[in-house]
Amino acid sequence: MLKTVESQIRSAGQKMGLEPAQIAEFLSFNELHDFEIKPSDGQSFKAYRVQHNNKFGPYKGGVRFHPEVSLDEVKALSLLMTLKTAAMGLPLGGAKGGVAVDAKSLTPKKLEEISRKYVDYLVDFIGPDRDVPAPDVSTDSRVIDWMVDEYSKLTGDKTRASFTGKSIKGGGSEGRDSATGRGGVIALRELLKHLSHYEGKLTYAIQGFGNVGSFFSLAAEEMLPNLKLVGVSDSSGTIFNDHGLDAKELDSYKLAKKRFSDYQGAGVKNLSADALIGLEVDVLVMAALGGAINQENVSNVKAKLVVELANGPISQEADDYLLKKGTVILPDIIANAGGVVVSYLEWRQNMAKEHWPLHKVNDELEKYMVRAVYGLHQIASQTKADLRQAALMLALKRLI
Ligand code: NAD
Repeated sequence: MLKTVESQIRSAGQKMGLEPAQIAEFLSFNELHDFEIKPSDGQSFKAYRVQHNNKFGPYKGGVRFHPEVSLDEVKALSLLMTLKTAAMGLPLGGAKGGVAVDAKSLTPKKLEEISRKYVDYLVDFIGPDRDVPAPDVSTDSRVIDWMVDEYSKLTGDKTRASFTGKSIKGGGSEGRDSATGRGGVIALRELLKHLSHYEGKLTYAIQGFGNVGSFFSLAAEEMLPNLKLVGVSDSSGTIFNDHGLDAKELDSYKLAKKRFSDYQGAGVKNLSADALIGLEVDVLVMAALGGAINQENVSNVKAKLVVELANGPISQEADDYLLKKGTVILPDIIANAGGVVVSYLEWRQNMAKEHWPLHKVNDELEKYMVRAVYGLHQIASQTKADLRQAALMLALKRLI
């Protein structure tokens, strides 16, 4: 992943005429924190915080708890965070953190101990004006609330702006849960305005109906009525109905913890989980895993437009294949940036001791997403670059 990200940055930099030395300087990391967390039961877990770039403001990026977390993965994700905040025009930098632990196997007490120890180690390197971590894979508002509490105990900080992704009670923002999905819909809507041959009714399918995917489909019903949902998958199965699926109904179905493989309805077909990628739709929305479209299955993709809500859902080889075929790809650093935009809004609210109503948060999110897609389209049409290269160029232009 690190090699892929670095090579994409080099290629975008070269296209912009940047000197190799400028690109190499950008690819270096400001600070690497590589340490061990030792809970009281004698175990030990590798932990990281990579602070890549803070040219525009405090470092920003999530902390993931996952057994396969590695320094290289955290480095790659920190680079992507720098590019994402810059492409979105946020006054923030890029960082990422992680602990190599299987959070699902931990008791709540041990999860809390590891979360607090992560902060104990990093306390001198993070903070509202220095580095503002957020949740990521297997870290949620409960973990973040513990981290904020630990940071406040150690430093006396009362702003609660040291982390974002807090519970509402703990100082979090309205609209954070829906932000990534909603931001993805705004980005797609804006892109469609620029792609004149995509007018009229369009069908779409969505891989992954978790937090991001479900909020995407709910926001699409509200903001993009021309888009008809016909296919949905998650790890429990795929359902398809060419007459359309009701996002609200599917959301209630999943909230009741039921499986898509058991879903029934008039005209609904149950397919295998991997059938989703090959559905005959106009738009394919990827909201599950990295590398989901890869060398093995890319030739099945029939959609003309793919939206990357997950981070890196298309492998390098698959990306090359789709571009040659003329498929438009709305890249992750823009498509899923709604989450970091609302994280930034949470930080602003904390710093100003305010709590904004949902409509104000959504209005601000809208402005950032619209502006970013406008910038993306301008660069893509001026340089004839594909949208991924254009997004990197948009970010690098601001950063270098
Ligand atoms: P989540 O765990 O809530 O949802 C993931 C969904 O993917 C689940 O419905 C799961 O069943 C499904 N899934 C897993 N394997 C699958 C498979 N093989 N086929 C089909 N579906 C499968 O996670 P999330 O928060 O919705 O995040 C989704 C993606 O978006 C992740 O890649 C994440 O890194 C990325 N992302 C999330 C945010 C955010 O704000 N949550 C922000 C930026 C990027």
